Amino acid sequence: MKTPVNIFWFRRDLRLDDNVGFYNALNSEHPVLPIFIFDPNILEQLPEDDARVTFIFETLQKTRRTLQDKHDSSIAIFYGTPESTFKTLAEDYTIATVFTNHDYEPYATTRDSEIKAQLLEQNIQLKTFKDQVIFEKDEVVKKDGKPYMVYTPYMRLWKATFKAQELKIYDTAPILNNLVSDSKLPNVTITDIGFIPATQNIEDYTVTPALIQNYEATRNFPAKDTTSKLGPHLRFGTVSIRKMVKKAIAEKNEIFWQELIWREFFMQILWHFPHTYKDAFKAKYDRIEWRNNDVEFKAWCEGKTGYPLVDAGMRQLNQTGFMHNRIRMLVGSFLCKHLLIDWRWGEAYFAEKLHDFDLSSNVGNWQWVAGSGVDASPYFRIFNPTTQIDKFDKQHDYINQWVPDYQELTYPQPIVDHKEARERCLKVYKAAVS
Ligand code: FAD
Repeated sequence: MKTPVNIFWFRRDLRLDDNVGFYNALNSEHPVLPIFIFDPNILEQLPEDDARVTFIFETLQKTRRTLQDKHDSSIAIFYGTPESTFKTLAEDYTIATVFTNHDYEPYATTRDSEIKAQLLEQNIQLKTFKDQVIFEKDEVVKKDGKPYMVYTPYMRLWKATFKAQELKIYDTAPILNNLVSDSKLPNVTITDIGFIPATQNIEDYTVTPALIQNYEATRNFPAKDTTSKLGPHLRFGTVSIRKMVKKAIAEKNEIFWQELIWREFFMQILWHFPHTYKDAFKAKYDRIEWRNNDVEFKAWCEGKTGYPLVDAGMRQLNQTGFMHNRIRMLVGSFLCKHLLIDWRWGEAYFAEKLHDFDLSSNVGNWQWVAGSGVDASPYFRIFNPTTQIDKFDKQHDYINQWVPDYQELTYPQPIVDHKEARERCLKVYKAAVS
């Protein structure tokens, strides 16, 4: 009989410190076998040069090296469905328990309940923990147990609940010796999983106290580039949300803290209303007669609409995988309202390009700009892509950086006239929703 092991299954929590599920696994009675599964169900939907896959891959390799060098252990990395991987693992090891952290997206919740049933057939338990949020699913709800659909009261109760409890940090350093002693656990290469590596420097995330302190003053000006760039790290768990919230509080910046609460607000919305990743939250918005013009959509994607601030955002996205929040709102509004293209088209394009893509935040924010979501801006509030320049890029620094050709003859003429597009939008939206 082989010595029993416990497995820790890494997913959106790619760090060794302050990781709740990993901490609980290390505190258990059996040595821990850390694993990661590259799942073709997810990978098959991504372009082969997807930089996010390189980010995950390189982060895992780095963590593997840390465990090999300092702890005579490793992470076993597999390519296959979770179902087949756990079948093989159960043949090779005597597994007592599989530990992992909660994942709330529709695909993940179905996957986890299927794996739970599969493991139970072999008498293996699946134990899951809250890790990627401070408050999950139904921990911040109205008195009648129903979810909040407006941000401000949700945020107030979130803060009140937070203040009433102690924020624990899960220090794994003293227990990191409870790992299987095997530094040669299975590994894959990036080509094994069907991808080509993107050039990327995977560095530890740092954010300066000054950035958080000055966040409110500078966050609306894209040329300043002074937001935290935390998105991908929260998405893949290379930074712990508990440590980030602690920092926001230490630097006394309520607005930065509130941004982190927006993330949890949209997460609980998607968990309570899983259909909203494809259907309008307010059903009548699915009656809108979108124009869905392919040529205009292509111009929007390529940053060739003839509106420099919109184009700057799209070109920043295409070249870097990031776009400033203020400009995300503008390009989103422009797509849905000026061009009358379905928000789902924009959501899918962002999902492919954004390094910080997160289903709940992407869908929540897209529905917000389209007017169809919870706590959304009213449909008749339509950003003017020209006056937005005066407000947020007065010196044209951001435009000059991303659209240096905007004053040249080759730069496209506006694909729609603002006034006409605005009137058309109001007419079409009104017909659908009133
Ligand atoms: P900062 O401004 O420094 O904020 C810190 C963190 O707070 C962010 O990393 C994020 O985790 C959270 N946050 C900030 N604003 C929001 C918000 N409005 N909604 C939810 N969380 C927020 N954010 C994503 O993380 N993934 C997405 O796929 C995504 N898609 C978006 C699509 C549209 C159309 C719009 C308008 C916004 C979207 N956002 C998304 C929200 C926001 O634009 C980004 O979180 C932010 O720009 C990321 O940059 P940062 O990490 O420097 O953020």
